[in-house]
Amino acid sequence: MRQAHLALGSPDLHLGRADVIVAACGRALRDLPDGPTFGVDLRALCGGATTVLAARLDRDDKVRVEADRVLVHTDCVESLAAGPLPLAMAERLAVLYLLHELAHLPQGIGDYAAVKALRERDETLVLQLDLAADHVAALALKHIEPNLGFADIKALQSRGLCDFPATKNHAPAARLRKARRMVSVCADVLLRRRGVLGDADGYVEASFGRGDASLALMQRGAGADRLLGLAKLDVPTLTALACAADQSQEPAAHVARLEQVVGRLVDAPPR
Ligand SMILES: [Zn+2]
Repeated sequence: MRQAHLALGSPDLHLGRADVIVAACGRALRDLPDGPTFGVDLRALCGGATTVLAARLDRDDKVRVEADRVLVHTDCVESLAAGPLPLAMAERLAVLYLLHELAHLPQGIGDYAAVKALRERDETLVLQLDLAADHVAALALKHIEPNLGFADIKALQSRGLCDFPATKNHAPAARLRKARRMVSVCADVLLRRRGVLGDADGYVEASFGRGDASLALMQRGAGADRLLGLAKLDVPTLTALACAADQSQEPAAHVARLEQVVGRLVDAPPR
């Protein structure tokens, strides 16, 4: 039986923000679900590890499981610690990051060389692996913090994506992948808040591309994929979607605007 849950947002005043964030990851590790979460047994994946440590990992690793500990790359912890978010939010984002990266291991893309090879082949494959890993992470956090609303956890993920914006260093296909991931999560939040999707109903993948005249919202991960919505895109709306993952000075407002755009598309009568 699980032990009484220790709330993630309970800072120990003797520790700095980074230490508190790492400690939250450690508590999450100890509270992981028994058995598979959306097909990924996170607890088994971590073996007997009971501690999380921040470390500067080589080979572009984001997370590494060792005998009795899980190492998470310092970059994630440091950027959340230095950022403006309230501590409880930063802790949950670090936990989501850790869970997402752990989920990538059994997906076969723990090795960044595999990610690079996949991206060269088809960025959509990476998008799909990311959305599935996001869903594993959200479900696991829901288990760890059952009082959180599932749509709120997904909303936290869209906020988290703002910290990994598309930059001028990203090729157009990579920028589009990141934009589609952001729009997917925003649509997921919207449809969940409207009661279209329940906690056990998989997740949303948004499909659109440069020059496309439509947006398709697909339901993934709950049996046969299903078309949730199809909307025509005018040029300003397509531009807004294509910029979804670009850097924003005001992430919360950016995500809210994006949810409005997606909401209008979902509400538009089919043409
Ligand atoms: Zn990923």
